[in-house]
Amino acid sequence: MTPQRELIFRSFFEMDKHVSVDELYEIVRSIDRSIGYSTVWRNLKLICRVGLAQEVSIGDGITRYDRLTRIPHGHLFCLGCKKVVEFNADQIVGVLAQTAIENDFTNKGFKVEVQGFCGECRAKGSVDSSETESVS
Ligand SMILES: [Zn+2]
Ligand SMILES: [Zn+2]
Repeated sequence: MTPQRELIFRSFFEMDKHVSVDELYEIVRSIDRSIGYSTVWRNLKLICRVGLAQEVSIGDGITRYDRLTRIPHGHLFCLGCKKVVEFNADQIVGVLAQTAIENDFTNKGFKVEVQGFCGECRAKGSVDSSETESVS
């Protein structure tokens, strides 16, 4: 393993959330300026290929990389600041798996995602909620 690859792998697995290529690139570049974007991208693809992570696209269509070693979880996606919050989806995934079985459906994966606005964005008043507008 090259030192660059080691740094990319370590940085990725130290993150406690999913990252896009851009985000991981920023992080590794702050440690080693010589790492190129395509190197980061290639290594993320490699991590997926060996089954340690998967690509997920949440809300805004940006591909993020999610570690597969963690418990089943869903995503809360803020349409305002594009923040992704995870929640434990153990129970939901259980229901989905059961539903698949009952419908004679081969389960190849789940996606549990809620789109909306986080508390910070609501507090800032940057929520384009037509409901609120019609009331005021
Ligand atoms: Zn996730
Ligand atoms: Zn937000």
